[in-house]
Amino acid sequence: MWSDVTADVHQALERVGRSGYYILGPEVSMFEEKLAAYSGMSYAVGTGNGLDALEIGLRALGVKPGDRVLTTPLSAFASSLAIVRVGAVPVFADTDDRGLLDLDVCRSAMRAGRVAWLLPVHLYGIAMDLDALGALRDEFGVSILEDCAQAVGARWNGRPVGAVAGVGAISFYPTKNLGAMGDAGAIITDSAEVAGKAKALRNYGESSKYEHVHVGLNSRLDELHAAILKDVFLPRLPDWMEKRRAVAGSYIAGISNDRVRILETSIDRSVWHIFAVAVAPQRRTEFMKFMDASGVSVAVHYPKLISDQDAIRNECRFEVYGSLDKAAQLCASEVSLPMHPYLTSEEVAHIIETVNQWRG
Ligand SMILES: *Cc1c(COP(=O)(O)O)cnc(C)c1O
Repeated sequence: MWSDVTADVHQALERVGRSGYYILGPEVSMFEEKLAAYSGMSYAVGTGNGLDALEIGLRALGVKPGDRVLTTPLSAFASSLAIVRVGAVPVFADTDDRGLLDLDVCRSAMRAGRVAWLLPVHLYGIAMDLDALGALRDEFGVSILEDCAQAVGARWNGRPVGAVAGVGAISFYPTKNLGAMGDAGAIITDSAEVAGKAKALRNYGESSKYEHVHVGLNSRLDELHAAILKDVFLPRLPDWMEKRRAVAGSYIAGISNDRVRILETSIDRSVWHIFAVAVAPQRRTEFMKFMDASGVSVAVHYPKLISDQDAIRNECRFEVYGSLDKAAQLCASEVSLPMHPYLTSEEVAHIIETVNQWRG
């Protein structure tokens, strides 16, 4: 990847260096415009990272300390950490078989009352069912923040992730589909009001020079990151997305081992941040060793529920709605196969063959 992008990165570095403008200058605003267009939303606001994008998004929506926010226990820790950081209370509900927050469970949690906020995650790059999410919003009048950290560019029936809530948070952590060369993130939104508040919050709560209207953060997107994202990585993203889809298509067509369940089989529903499969929990370690021995590095997303982490158990107010059995089952059985745009067809074929050879 580096050899593919070197010349373009050097050019961006040269331009920003020469401009003398390193924080919140023209590169950031131009990148924000391009990101909004790519995401199918009206506004984008760059932040220092994805966690801050979530926290700023929640605060811009009006989440207050003590509010209860329904969310998934199966995600990057940052999804729930953002809720905790605004002083709100995560309420964990179970997932479905593909690892997404179960919206039927959410519906019954909302009927039971007192939950006014929802933070779903488009996990692994799979778009949630936005029609069902929209129905939930309309039925209960809940406000939603969509965690799009793993799903930049994902769509459900043509609608972009983030559109139902009107607010989404993105991370440009280097391993994400659109990754910066360091920490970076963004809020995408259709609301001018949310965008305005987010812009103030990321910059000490400043509305105009030396006017502080909110207790904000220092969480700005650097010019250098914005320039590289805008000129080097974002223009390549559609092509990278096609390559990820092609790899996923090969895996789905080629993997035929009934001990290995593929979590998502609809090519268009995911942007394939992660290609997740599930095996029997008591066989997972053996499967991973088998893959590793053939030179295939695999990983687990995620080995432990957020609701089981010491930080949550010992230091936070939190609640659990119903059982978390399906999420726990995925924690114990999920394995992520290699997924990135630079995999060769020989590598993909070797991975498929290795998976099919496994007799767990
Ligand atoms: C990566 C990620 C985040 C956090 O992003 P950072 O940029 O690392 O702060 C939040 N939510 C999900 C689902 C993520 O994958």
